[in-house]
Formats: sequence, C-alpha cells, structure tokens
Amino acid sequence: MKERRVRVRFAPSPTGPLHMGGVRTALYNYLFAKKHNGDFLLRIEDTDQTRYVSGAEEYIVDALNWCQMSIDEGASVGGENGPYRQSERKPMYKQYADQLIESGSAYYAFDTPEELTEMRERMKAAGVSSPQYNAITRSGMKNSLTLPAEEVQRRLLANEKHVIRIKMPRNEDVKFEDIIRGWVSVNTNNIDDKVLFKSDGMPTYHLANVVDDYLMNISHVIRGEEWLPSAPLHVLLYQSLGWAEQMPKFAHLPLILKPDGNGKLSKRDGDRLGFPVFPTNWTNPETGEESSGYRERGYYPEAFNNMLAFLGWNPGTTQELFSMQELVEAFSLDRVGKAGAKFDFDKTNWFNQQYLRMQGGEQLAPQLKPFLASAQLEAEDSYIAQVCELMKERATFVQDILKEGRYFFEAPTSYDEKTIKKKWKEQTPEIIKELRDLLAALPSFDAESIGACFKAFLEAKELGFGAVMPGFRVSVTGLGAGASMNDIAALLGKEEVLNRIDIALKTIKK
Ligand code: GLU
Repeated sequence: MKERRVRVRFAPSPTGPLHMGGVRTALYNYLFAKKHNGDFLLRIEDTDQTRYVSGAEEYIVDALNWCQMSIDEGASVGGENGPYRQSERKPMYKQYADQLIESGSAYYAFDTPEELTEMRERMKAAGVSSPQYNAITRSGMKNSLTLPAEEVQRRLLANEKHVIRIKMPRNEDVKFEDIIRGWVSVNTNNIDDKVLFKSDGMPTYHLANVVDDYLMNISHVIRGEEWLPSAPLHVLLYQSLGWAEQMPKFAHLPLILKPDGNGKLSKRDGDRLGFPVFPTNWTNPETGEESSGYRERGYYPEAFNNMLAFLGWNPGTTQELFSMQELVEAFSLDRVGKAGAKFDFDKTNWFNQQYLRMQGGEQLAPQLKPFLASAQLEAEDSYIAQVCELMKERATFVQDILKEGRYFFEAPTSYDEKTIKKKWKEQTPEIIKELRDLLAALPSFDAESIGACFKAFLEAKELGFGAVMPGFRVSVTGLGAGASMNDIAALLGKEEVLNRIDIALKTIKK
C-alpha cells in the first residue's frame, strides 16, 4: 500500500492569545510534518462566534512566525484546501450533517433551552449526578426520533429552531489506537448525543473538525490531551460518514503542568508565578489587560522552542541543545511520554543562556545596541562586540550585558558601598596610586601585561590580592565584583583606566 503523505494541522480557536501549551502542540505538529517531508497546516477553528476574540488569529500567526514554524497551508498563506477558517467553510458542513441524518446516525432535536434545563433537573432529582442528552433521555425529548414524521417536517419547513445531534449507539465499545496512549476503548453508554450542528447554522467543533480533517486529507491529528475524551466521538463520526479508511491517526499530547506538578499550567499562572505563559505580549482588546510574552522579555525563539520540545519529548540521549533542524531530525512521537511534563522556568533561562553564549561578540553587538541607545550610551561596533564577548558568560539576556557592564560605556557615577566599607582601608589610596603609576608606565596595555604588572606589584609590596584588587576594581568599575579586571582594564584602555582611578582617588571618602 502506498504510504500516505503526512499532513498535520494545528487547529487553534481564536479565543485569546496562544498559551505556551498551544505553541508546543504546534511545534510537535511542525516537527512531525517536517521530519516526514509532509505539510503543516494552520486551521482557524472559529465556529463558536460567541468566544471569538479580535486580534487572536493575528496573534497566533505572529507567534508561529516568531517561533520559526513556517506554515505550508493556512489562511495567512493560502493553499489548495482552503478556506482555512471554519467560519468561511460554513456551506460545506450542512451536507454531512444531512448525510448523517439520512443514514440514521443523527437526528433533529427541537428542545428549547427551558426544556433542556427541565430535563436536567428532573434527572438530578432522580439521582443522576450529571444528566445528559443520551440514549436514555432522548426518548423523553422533542426530536425526530420521538415526534411523528409529519410534525418533524412541519417544524423544519416552518424554520423552527433546531439542532442536529449524533445518535450515540447503545452499549458499543469504540476503540482506536493512539500513538502515545496505545489502545483506547470507550463504551458509548458514557458518551452523550453531542450537538453536531447548531441552530445558528454553524457546525460544532466536533463535526467541523472531522469534516475538515477529512477534506484537508489530514493524516495525523496531534493535539492536547484535553481532546482525548472527544476522540471516540470523532472516530464514530468517521465511521458513520463512511470515511473509516481515511481516518487520521491520533496522538494526544501530555499536559504541561505547573512547576510544582500540581495541575495544568493555566493562562492565569503566568504573571502570578513570575514567568510568561505566552510566546509574545498580548493585550486583551476588551479589558486592556496585558500579559507578558517570551519574545518581549528577550528570549530567543530557538531557546523557547528547544525548551518546549523537551516538555513531553526527549531524544533518548543526553543532548539538550537542538537547533530547529536538529529537532526535526531527532523528533519522533514514539518518544513523547504519557505523563504530564512540569514546566521549569529556570531551565528556560538556562536554554536562553546557552543560546546567548553560542553567539560571538559580533552577533551580539547589534542586539545590544538598541539597549545602549535607550540608555543614551554609545560606542564603536567593534568595542561593543568585545564587551559582548567578554560579558556573555554572565548574561541570560543580551540586555544583562549592559546591566552588568554599564561601566564599559560610562565611568562609574557611584562606588559600591559595601566594598568601600569593607575593603577601602586607610592605606588603600596610597596602594592604588602606586598601582596606577605602574600601569601608566606599561608600554603595552593588554590583559596579559596588566595581569603581570599587577602580580609583580603584589609580590614587590608583599601585599595580598584582597588588599589591592577590590580597590582597583571599585575605582574603575564602581562595583565589588565582575569579570576579570585584566580584561576589563585592557578593553577600557590605559587613558580611561588612569582617569577613572584619579577620579576615584579624589571621590571615594570613607
Ligand atoms: N480547536 C481546538 C482547540 O482549540 C482544536 C482541537 C483539535 O486539534 O482537534 O484546541
């Protein structure tokens, strides 16, 4: 049999910003598609107009772009199987709902909201804890299974409000093999007669999702675990519509858990726990409420993806750093676990650090420049590049280089109080002055010569490191700790260093 072309879809509902878990779902779909030379589709599932949030679709596309997942087919890029927004596919669904009615797999239901509430209350009073419209209760309701055929016709012709429901068979086991969970079997007695087609003429998620996956020739449905309970219904729909052969394979991804493992990482956890849960910033158009994103916090998309990839998947080796291309090559659904994956913010920062360190000073310099500009600082490109190279080991974000190394761009405006209090002794000014004069006499002001000069000075004066270095450092940088002073001094240059020492000697008072 010819292998089916791999076609997967990421199918978010535009109800708000995309949660990190959604981005992971997109990423696994993308990696799987690319690994198998297949197609990655973006389908916007906007059948529930009441939950539509303006700007959400743009947000999703922008976030996927930032994460470097290129979309092969979708509303933003086009394709042969469009439209890719369900609201624009509206006319396509009705015929399948009709087909299900004709084959006896679905029926019309005319119950009003009041009648539905009444039924639920009646059932509750009879001791049923979560009453459903199902094989038992449907017989007492107003639908095409209970009403005479002529009345059904009359109501339909009169355009009476109605929905179409699936007729769940009684006591049948629906079985399918999930790539991650193995065999799943659910008895139809536990599934209700879900609405497939609403009174507003729109399909529900369940019908639209199945019809679209079929029409778009989707080979694998890779989605969050929260959809596992709906999968048996979807399987039944494929069977009832005569599409069993074309049914995609399912893979339900494990949950992303809060850092303490206590439940699902929710949209609300983010700013509350001090880390973003969204890929990029989002402002709620209705309330104006803002939520922070990884992009604006200064994370690299490569680091964000790498971190997400490991939330549920592992390569089976000790390698942790993977470029997108390496992820594509290494990824397999077989290595996605069933257990929920705890989100680890420290690890996220670690990934960013690694991606920062991988870059050379020249690559980092242009990233630092905007931060310098907004601090009204400037320097030559090659100088900025050298600062970046020297400071990158101490940074998680590129802006940390400025935070930690502001003294590279301006003379200290204050001196670390703790260092002064503890290390600036009576004889310190004298010692620093002597060191200054030795440095001034150096023919070459490179890190090595500075180091050698410093060492020789300590030996000649029989002084300990602690009697000289803190004073030297605080004079030049204003700080009590930091990168190697030899490197710092060499980069600043002789004139600047001597100048700073002179100012410090005049300014620092105990
Ligand atoms: N629209 C659903 C969601 O928002 C998609 C579920 C699926 O992938 O089937 O998550």
